[in-house]
Amino acid sequence: MLDRKLRHTILNLNYIITAICFVFDMAFLLLYVLTDDLFYPLPVYICVRIIPPTAINVMSSFVAYKYNESDEVSSDAKNEACAATLCTIGGSMGIFHSFFSPLWLAPCIGMMFCGVFASKRLRLVLAAYSMFLMGAAAAFQCFERPGEISSNLQNLAVDIAISMIMYMISKVISGYIEDFGTEMKASVLREQELETRMRYEPLTGIFFARPYFMEIATNILDKASPEHPVSLAMVDFDHFKEINDIFGHDNGDKVIKAFADLTVTMTGDDIIAGRYGGEEFVFMFDGGDIERHIEAMNYLRERFENVSYDFTDRHVTLSCGIVSCRGNRSYEDLFVLADKAVYRAKEEGRNKTIAIGAGEYEKCE
Ligand code: GH3
Ligand code: MG
Ligand code: MG
Repeated sequence: MLDRKLRHTILNLNYIITAICFVFDMAFLLLYVLTDDLFYPLPVYICVRIIPPTAINVMSSFVAYKYNESDEVSSDAKNEACAATLCTIGGSMGIFHSFFSPLWLAPCIGMMFCGVFASKRLRLVLAAYSMFLMGAAAAFQCFERPGEISSNLQNLAVDIAISMIMYMISKVISGYIEDFGTEMKASVLREQELETRMRYEPLTGIFFARPYFMEIATNILDKASPEHPVSLAMVDFDHFKEINDIFGHDNGDKVIKAFADLTVTMTGDDIIAGRYGGEEFVFMFDGGDIERHIEAMNYLRERFENVSYDFTDRHVTLSCGIVSCRGNRSYEDLFVLADKAVYRAKEEGRNKTIAIGAGEYEKCE
């Protein structure tokens, strides 16, 4: 994502630099014509100083742009193409305006900027390429003005020294971007881990029954209608304190985990389950037939009753309250009603499901 933005910036920069170069070339041409200071006759000047750099800049910007649009090219190759184009444009500025020696350094500016791609290979390739272009600009100047070789070599030496500093800056930028990337990745992972911890309960691996679960449950409730009934079921294990007291907390945990494993087999797109706390669980049924919701909870109750444990021959049971709605009811309303239904199931002897529909209790043993 970051690389794509950087490439986009460089591609735009290529066009902007090309346009700026062209405007300045034309302005200088006008100035030289007015002051009668043209180094070559006008047609030769245009052919040597104007057309080649403009053509190279436009062509390379266009090719890089097209290359970047391709889906078959890797992101690294696209980065390399963008970086090479930026240096090429800098090189064409240096070579075709070689009379101005600071411009020989122009490809090195591209190399320095491309430190943002944080690739050592790319940085080294660009350094070598920039040096080559800088040397070509110096050679072009020596060729044009053979009498100034010594001063040109001096200028080249200074530019090489500056380009080395630019390389170091590029390296610093790369290092900074790499550290930044590593930190970003670590922070995203931390955030994901935190979110997982907030959503899922560590013992059972299912949802905490709040607040993420409540958010989903509320979304489900919003859809409730006569054609799309929604149910909330609550489960509380029977005499669970005894299990803990007699067999220990760790064995109690095994019972909780065994139940959670059963819930995983029944939950899906239209049923979600969450651990509310201790040995209490909440379920939401999203649409379907209310009778089927009750049946599902009863089936779960029976399966749980038949689970065998490695620490006792006892079977643990549960009491369940289920409340359905076909219209506008809040999660809190349904929760209170389901809790009452659980209480009622306990009162009536436990190991049952009590369903509430339209204010009446319905017992399912
Ligand atoms: P009832 O049939 O009336 O529900 O009786 P109960 O003993 O199950 O009573 P209650 O539901 O109030 O007891 C819940 C017990 O669950 C109390 C506590 O010892 C136990 N508990 C709560 N959280 C955990 C847990 O994470 N692990 C284990 N092993 N036990 C827990
Ligand atoms: Mg309880
Ligand atoms: Mg209990």
